[in-house]
Amino acid sequence: MFKVNDNYLKLPGNYLFSTIGKKVKEYKEANPDKDIISLGIGDVTQPLAPAIINSLHRAVDEMAVKETFRGYAPDLGYEFLRSAIAENDYVARGADISIDEIFISDGAKCDSGNIQEIFALDNKIAVCDPVYPVYVDTNVMAGRTGTYNTDTGLWSDVIYMPCKADNSFAPELPKETPDIIYLCFPNNPTGATIKKAQLQEWVDYANREGAVIIYDAAYEAYISEADVPHTIYECAGAKTCAIELKSFSKNAGFTGTRLGYAVVPKELKASDGTSLNALWARRHGTKFNGAPYIIQRAGEAVYSEEGKKQTAEQIAYYMNNARMIKEGLSEAGFTVSGGINAPYIWLKTPEKMNSWEFFDYLLTNANVVGTPGSGFGPSGEGYFRLTAFGTKENTEEAIRRINTI
Ligand SMILES: *Cc1c(COP(=O)(O)O)cnc(C)c1O
Repeated sequence: MFKVNDNYLKLPGNYLFSTIGKKVKEYKEANPDKDIISLGIGDVTQPLAPAIINSLHRAVDEMAVKETFRGYAPDLGYEFLRSAIAENDYVARGADISIDEIFISDGAKCDSGNIQEIFALDNKIAVCDPVYPVYVDTNVMAGRTGTYNTDTGLWSDVIYMPCKADNSFAPELPKETPDIIYLCFPNNPTGATIKKAQLQEWVDYANREGAVIIYDAAYEAYISEADVPHTIYECAGAKTCAIELKSFSKNAGFTGTRLGYAVVPKELKASDGTSLNALWARRHGTKFNGAPYIIQRAGEAVYSEEGKKQTAEQIAYYMNNARMIKEGLSEAGFTVSGGINAPYIWLKTPEKMNSWEFFDYLLTNANVVGTPGSGFGPSGEGYFRLTAFGTKENTEEAIRRINTI
């Protein structure tokens, strides 16, 4: 009789979004006349920009003609897209990343989940707390995390780096040395970010300790402040210690279209001298058959003059929502952070209310839905995440309601 990979059985149920859905459904059923606004959405809502749609149409038409039809895409991605990425996201920022260090994928969720496969099972991971759940859960599936403590919500073999108000939601260098360090800036869920000098400290630490940093830069396009790094490769020495993950989901609305990439520098070597670039190329070529041609053409259009302008307008729209939420809640007396370099606002729940109590309070009294911070890790308890991905009208109305309860 076959058996399953019992690491999967160790996963605690991911109750967060299903619990939210259940609570909202119950409330709606009991109060059918109430109009509920969600500021909990972790997905873009604006349609793809015209430059992207035009490029998609052209590529679809090419597929209908014998001379321009394409079959399997190259495993690592088409050169037209990889060179647009190298030029715009790296060389233009003074980061010397070449085409053969860029691996096109169908998004950063897969890359952030899959990348752990190329590391030894006894490598120790360090994560921020609260955190995007994919990093830990995929290491649980691999069997790298030890045992789960249901009281604390922590894994015995994971190094947690609490991010709270007292450290401005920026992780501190851990006491115990990790092998693999997951960092995500601008951060989901806290919306926090770190300055270039702070990121340089992480790069220096990783190089000194022989650790690798997996840097999730999915929200890079939301950065508005000058001294916040857009890529970890702005830091000296990052090419010998860091992998960077990027996505077209949040900057250009590709959440349903699917496109992302990983940067694995050729200088990045394991302790025995093995090149991670070669290893990831091997893994990618074996388990991935390339992102679709039409989608890679759509991705290329993000870097056209029109595409840059149109996607910047969409980001400005979301960031105007973020500003409204942040200002509106501050005026209402809440303690808020984030929302300056990220579409997420992280708010401290009022005294004597934990994350879930505040969820219920907001749902019942303002008919507004958000996400309890405790769902992202124990250090998220007492916090609450609101997102800027709604419409301007709904965001305004939600803030108005919160201000009058
Ligand atoms: C949305 C998000 C991603 C992007 O995921 P895709 O698979 O590219 O859509 C990656 N990391 C974080 C932290 C995110 O919030």
